Amino acid sequence: MFSKTLISNLKSAQSVAVLTGAGMSAESGVPTFRGENGLWKKFKPEELANFEAFIRNPELVWEWYRYRKHLIAQVQPNAGHYALAQMEKRHKNFAVITQNIDNLHRRAGSKTVHELHGNIDCNYCTGCKKYFSNEKILAREEGVPRCDKCGGLIRPDVVWFGELLPAEPWNSSVEASERSDVFFSIGTSSVVYPAASLPLVAKRAGAYLVEINLEATELSPAADEVILQKSGDMLPLLLKECYGSTEGNKIL
Ligand code: NAD
Repeated sequence: MFSKTLISNLKSAQSVAVLTGAGMSAESGVPTFRGENGLWKKFKPEELANFEAFIRNPELVWEWYRYRKHLIAQVQPNAGHYALAQMEKRHKNFAVITQNIDNLHRRAGSKTVHELHGNIDCNYCTGCKKYFSNEKILAREEGVPRCDKCGGLIRPDVVWFGELLPAEPWNSSVEASERSDVFFSIGTSSVVYPAASLPLVAKRAGAYLVEINLEATELSPAADEVILQKSGDMLPLLLKECYGSTEGNKIL
């Protein structure tokens, strides 16, 4: 299943970085954007996930985000998330870089998590930047939430198409990628930039590049090893084979 090179490189790695995408959470029941049951088959991104669309039709965008917030609040981390949290304990430097907004890595116990696209549990006022918790936002089932301080529109704290990534997580992600001895790209279609450039940054700096996905992606030709399987199946197996640990499963 895994090559001897991967096991040996991982065993001796001081620094490991893992880039995750929507596929990482698919086994938790969070739909991916692209692929078989992808959300973009049902909704148009340009109508929902950009600032102009929000200003034009905030009711529609909030309907979509209320739906996603409720959905994500009900799901649990899967065996893959737990395995990564266990792997973190075995290496001097270990960073999860995620494009996901679902908070499942932290809920599984991962400590160093760089969230490139924000977090769906958080919201802020577009006027004065005041923070609002989901609890307050979801207390109302419909309508557009407004700031109690300045009356501005409240938006989810996620990065929309055309927006810049937050500087701190991005800089930390580049550093973790450049430093990594082994880099995993997991459950991402590798088409959303600049996140999709990180595996190549790592590879250029000398990392052993491993991809785990259900299907080949644009990244696959550059990877040293491509594992076409579910991440929730593969990561606990890797944990066992590399460290002789079944802790990832026990937590479940
Ligand atoms: P994507 O939807 O474009 O691609 C998902 C990838 O995961 C596909 O390549 C698919 O083959 C693969 N995949 C599906 N199930 C898998 C499994 N069990 N194991 C391994 N791989 C699996 O997702 P993306 O590349 O992350 O990019 C899209 C954007 O979607 C990101 O910006 C992210 O913020 C957002 N998003 C996040 C969530 C979430 O937070 N869970 C969900 C949907 C979309």
